[in-house]
Amino acid sequence: MGCDVVNKYSTRFYCDFVFQPNLFPSSALTRSLGNPGDFVIVHPDIQQGVTHLLMTANHGHWEKSDTDLIMNNERYNYNAMGAARGLIIGHSNSFGMKAFDRQCPNCLNDYGSPRYPLYWNPKNEQQVVCYKCKRIYSLEGDDAFPVANGKKNDEPLMQYKIELTGNNELLRVHN
Ligand SMILES: [Zn+2]
Repeated sequence: MGCDVVNKYSTRFYCDFVFQPNLFPSSALTRSLGNPGDFVIVHPDIQQGVTHLLMTANHGHWEKSDTDLIMNNERYNYNAMGAARGLIIGHSNSFGMKAFDRQCPNCLNDYGSPRYPLYWNPKNEQQVVCYKCKRIYSLEGDDAFPVANGKKNDEPLMQYKIELTGNNELLRVHN
């Protein structure tokens, strides 16, 4: 028997996020896709019936218009964004484009509900922190296991497949 091979792409929560980078060339999300080390936290927000995609970049200074995108394309479903409609998307230094669920997977296991989102670690921009359990996860490995305050049998961040097709025409993050 071989050793256990864990499928690194999570199917626990439905994810099928679609974005057209070429419509938003200067957005934080578009720019992170091509820049090693750059990531953004992305989540949708409905404001007066209009979907906005809100982004928090791990570094850099941004205009509001590049981190608060008004989405007019009704074709896309912004509910299919993992455990609680929050994704971390970007380009790692060693493993190319990456997409993770924003929820702390270990708090999800411990408490049973997706109420513990991750935030940028103010001390290291390539890491995210859970303020509930204090675990810190690095986005620079192939799998994002905790790098601080973890416990035995911890799980890595839930990871999704990421594809960019055409000439920056279609980004898809999915199970
Ligand atoms: Zn946690």
